[in-house]
Amino acid sequence: MSDWNPRCVVVGAGTVGASCAWHLKRRGAQVTLIDSELPGMSTSYGNAGCISPSHVIPFSYPGVGWKVPGWLFDPLGPLKIRWQDLPRLVPWLWRFWRSGTAAGVMRAARAQKALMDRVVTDFDQVLSAIGASDMRRAMGVIVVYDRREHFEAERWQFELLEQLDFEWEYLSPAELRIMVPALDVGTGMAIYLPDWQHVLSPAGVTARIAEACFGAGGEWLQDRVRSVRATEQGVTVGTEGGRELRAEYLVIAAGVWSNALARQLDYTVPVNPKRGYHSMIAQPGVELDYPIESGSRRFVMTPMAEGLRLAGTAEFAALDAPPDYRRARVLREHAQRYLPGIRFEGVTEWMGQRPMTPDSIPIISGSPGHRNVFYAFGHGHYGLTQGPTTGDIITRLVFGEEPGLDLSPYRFDRFHKS
Ligand SMILES: Cc1cc2nc3c(=O)[nH]c(=O)nc-3n(C[C@H](O)[C@H](O)[C@H](O)COP(=O)(O)OP(=O)(O)OC[C@H]3O[C@@H](n4cnc5c(N)ncnc54)[C@H](O)[C@@H]3O)c2cc1C
Repeated sequence: MSDWNPRCVVVGAGTVGASCAWHLKRRGAQVTLIDSELPGMSTSYGNAGCISPSHVIPFSYPGVGWKVPGWLFDPLGPLKIRWQDLPRLVPWLWRFWRSGTAAGVMRAARAQKALMDRVVTDFDQVLSAIGASDMRRAMGVIVVYDRREHFEAERWQFELLEQLDFEWEYLSPAELRIMVPALDVGTGMAIYLPDWQHVLSPAGVTARIAEACFGAGGEWLQDRVRSVRATEQGVTVGTEGGRELRAEYLVIAAGVWSNALARQLDYTVPVNPKRGYHSMIAQPGVELDYPIESGSRRFVMTPMAEGLRLAGTAEFAALDAPPDYRRARVLREHAQRYLPGIRFEGVTEWMGQRPMTPDSIPIISGSPGHRNVFYAFGHGHYGLTQGPTTGDIITRLVFGEEPGLDLSPYRFDRFHKS
């Protein structure tokens, strides 16, 4: 801890904001964490719970444009664009498509790898410091494909992972039967990636990180931030509840809602909601030790403290559009395909909005216009995985220290320049 105790306000108590608040507090800052919801109750509540270091390949890659018509016409396919929201999405999709060159894929994969190389160690550090290591399992992940052709279509991704030094291996049917007796992949196949971990409750882990910050003296405020201002003298945060907070530093970690605040300080960036759904099965009647990802059907089955979570799918819709829970139901049909013995007792459904940048790289950055404002959002599919690492980097930036990696790929202003 240093002798310097700057006053910091962090907006957003998802995994990313809670991790920023925890790291800042640990270094000795005076921290106020603000959220209109309780910690971990928004997007960070219902994700698949996977710490997935090898997920470095961006979602836009050569040829992806040909898939857009399918996304529009198949209402329950793994990726869906709602017709009525298409006009609003076009600028984002344009950037998405443009970033998907061979060079763009390599650039994004290297930027993600620089973060992902640290995520397991950084997660370990937080969980052990707060006494919550028992909320995480280090089992790896099994990726299944319904047909060999599905894997062959993605083989380039595994070859790229190899180039980037990630380990993966084929599983024989016999190995698969021993590892997951309840699983049936039919004529399909399976791959194992040993470096993945999973948490038993993403919301629980996030709440524990936030509570550890409060336990060390951090302040909690449940309120909605309406206004943010920054001058050379400091930052001012106004809330719907009528509070006005003054501080030396402000961290915006408000997930998919961050643009509403960034607009008041700098300008908006292309971060769009990419919705996902889950079905949580309290009594599934089958036991899994490993998370299982379907490469064919684009969802994950993760064993958690409160049952089996089926999470995934992607849907582009306006931020305030109503959820389409048919997508959560489809996940149950998919799960039945792999787990013939599954029962659906005690089912709950959920929708969350991933904050998605077109290049799949998060924003971890100082503000272009204000030396005392920092941005930590846009983590898309990997906000749980990268939360603790982001918290560490933001804290180093606030304390004027070397972050330990080149931060140019994660800059807030990278979209402004292109
Ligand atoms: C189906 C699904 C599966 C996923 N699986 C995984 C996975 O396995 N692994 C992984 O790493 N990631 C996964 N993700 C992605 C992950 O959930 C997100 O990247 C992550 O939750 C984003 O965290 P965050 O802290 O940025 O945002 P959030 O958790 O959304 O937190 C932002 C907070 O800011 C608050 N806020 C916003 N505006 C204001 C305001 N004006 N005033 C006050 N508070 C405000 C919100 O209330 C919210 O609590 C998945 C996502 C989905 C949808």
